[in-house]
Amino acid sequence: MKPFTILGYSANDEVFCPGCLRATTGLAPSDVDYNGRPILPLYAADSSVQEECCTYCGVSLLELRLVGDAERARSAPELHVEKTRHRGRQPALRFDRKPPANILRDLKDAGWRWDPAAGLWWWPKGAPVPVPPSLGLPLPRLGIAARAPIVRKRALVAASA
Ligand SMILES: [Zn+2]
Repeated sequence: MKPFTILGYSANDEVFCPGCLRATTGLAPSDVDYNGRPILPLYAADSSVQEECCTYCGVSLLELRLVGDAERARSAPELHVEKTRHRGRQPALRFDRKPPANILRDLKDAGWRWDPAAGLWWWPKGAPVPVPPSLGLPLPRLGIAARAPIVRKRALVAASA
């Protein structure tokens, strides 16, 4: 949790969870309270705030936030990525949406390039292809690419003649 995460509000000399502030006072965080004073956000970094409970519903402000965060994390659909080819040639990765910052950083650090027209991250060099572990993709196979068989045309011509 970030230090400036707002866990609740102080208004009318009482402590509110975000839901009760609106439900019981009709006030928004940017309003002034009934005493004409600004409504104060209660930040997670303040250890005394972490012990506060809402005057109205009695919920612990910290627990309320932790439960909310866990629910958001559960409901966020998993990032989907598939391997593909850039212009039919270079290895590429297609994401179903913009990946989180840590994955973008891993891709850039590894040397992947973004092609906005194709909507792909692609690898401009040869093997090995460094797929960032943060993607959770199976590791690339390290097999050596099979060469096309060498056809000795002259020998064939000689044999058929
Ligand atoms: Zn409440």
